[in-house]
Amino acid sequence: MVQNPVHFFKSTASEELRDSYDVIVIGGGLAGLTTAALSAKNGKRVLLLERNYIPGGCASSYFRNGAVFDTGATTLLGLSEGMPLHTVLDELGIDLPAKKLGDPMQVHLASGEIITRFENRDAWIAEAERVFGVEGQRKFWHRCFKLSDFVWDSAMRYRYFPPVNFGDLLSLAKNVRPRDVLYLRHTFHPVEKWIEACGLKDKKEFRQFIDQQLLITAQNRAAEVNMLFGAAALCYTNYPNYMLPGGMVTLVKALTDSIVANGGHVLYRTEVEKIEQAPVNTWAIHTANRVFNGSNLVSAIPLHNFNALLGSTAEKVKIAEGNSLSSALQFNAIIRHWGGGDVLHHQAHVKDCSRSVFFSVSECNDRLRTNEGLRVLSATTHAHLIGHNETDKKEWAQQVIELAEQNKLFQRDDLIDYHVSDAANWQQWTGRHLGFVGGIPQFMRIKPWMMNRQQKGSNLFFCGDSVYPGQGIPGVVLSGWQVAGRLLKR
Ligand SMILES: Cc1cc2nc3c(=O)[nH]c(=O)nc-3n(C[C@H](O)[C@H](O)[C@H](O)COP(=O)(O)OP(=O)(O)OC[C@H]3O[C@@H](n4cnc5c(N)ncnc54)[C@H](O)[C@@H]3O)c2cc1C
Repeated sequence: MVQNPVHFFKSTASEELRDSYDVIVIGGGLAGLTTAALSAKNGKRVLLLERNYIPGGCASSYFRNGAVFDTGATTLLGLSEGMPLHTVLDELGIDLPAKKLGDPMQVHLASGEIITRFENRDAWIAEAERVFGVEGQRKFWHRCFKLSDFVWDSAMRYRYFPPVNFGDLLSLAKNVRPRDVLYLRHTFHPVEKWIEACGLKDKKEFRQFIDQQLLITAQNRAAEVNMLFGAAALCYTNYPNYMLPGGMVTLVKALTDSIVANGGHVLYRTEVEKIEQAPVNTWAIHTANRVFNGSNLVSAIPLHNFNALLGSTAEKVKIAEGNSLSSALQFNAIIRHWGGGDVLHHQAHVKDCSRSVFFSVSECNDRLRTNEGLRVLSATTHAHLIGHNETDKKEWAQQVIELAEQNKLFQRDDLIDYHVSDAANWQQWTGRHLGFVGGIPQFMRIKPWMMNRQQKGSNLFFCGDSVYPGQGIPGVVLSGWQVAGRLLKR
């Protein structure tokens, strides 16, 4: 039966609240939930403060007109052994009712060609060769697989990277493998260079395909995404991908339940308004009704938002991204017929290849999302931030419908209901600076060692998608796990 997710989340009663905590986490997105859950599980007194009535931020779900819609994220990676989410759920003892997808995605090129992004690596190379020609494909993808495997393996091995103290350095020294250093050189070359080295520079359709794939997980194009991160972004579909019955909120609920079950406190509809460094090396966290003290503070909100909470004289945190953030335009609908077969995720390029739209649909029998015979669909693309040209929502909805019809995903008559959101809605839902979502775009000037999780020598920690470029849920869960590791060492 369809259930409104709002009923899953209840704030800790005010009489149970304490004045001070070992760890205060600001923001209940997947990064903050991960840190809070792991800290509570390991005996810390934890308080999580979330401004919205439902946690999960950009990877959650909401109820409207009898259906459960995902807020943003729809694809899920990282539940296989050795990957971030698997490790976190394992440590928390959570058994998620996730289902592995068959083929993770299909891509509809502007020419009308449909490419299936097979998970199996040989099958995927054969598919890429079928569509783009044999030359260079094997070489291109073999390097991508190797680098991507390295990225995930090293991300889990180097929990305290970049090092900020002697203990971190020791841990780094213990885990380092001499060959790792060789991989770092790939952070100095963009994906575009590897395209050229494989003789694929003049294959326009392949280059457009790569750019649009990179935009999904790296938020930037081949000229700007470094090869190491780019490989992980491009191989997203070559690892097991999953879906959650009930939508993303199923994961959010499991993490929140774990916090509470381990004695953690959670407050919803509670916005942090100001942060002050208090005496005796603690933090004073101001909400509308109450001030809490924390021995450790975790910011799981974008760094831009964090800086705004510091007093005007406080030293601000450095942000690496420059002036390059974007938002998302989203079309959410209930449909009665889906033409995309068993594949739940489809990327469709628009005719001039300037952008693509990402369509995701709920599984056909997911009765936790909507009624029998219906499906919940979301279509998203990159968009301007608030203050840039306002998007015409009606025009965007028409573009989505036309693109869906061209690619036979659904027809106009299949639509039962739809609504559209833009940067202003994102800002309203998550409070994020100018409604920027999707994380910090990857740029050649951003290197792995710039992604700081802890203010040097202090009890202030950062996680979330503004300190971990690209890769969405796996990246932010990883950042939450890394911060929890640092906290638990203290
Ligand atoms: C349209 C879209 C599609 C996406 N698709 C995918 C996908 O398919 N797969 C994938 O892996 N990733 C995807 N992503 C990326 C992924 O959803 C995000 O990177 C990730 O969820 C961000 O998590 P976070 O915890 O860093 O931040 P957020 O999700 O933004 O969480 C921050 C939380 O902090 C709260 N908050 C903010 N300010 C305050 C305050 N002052 N006081 C208290 N609380 C506060 C907010 O309400 C929010 O709940 C997508 C993102 C978008 C927008």
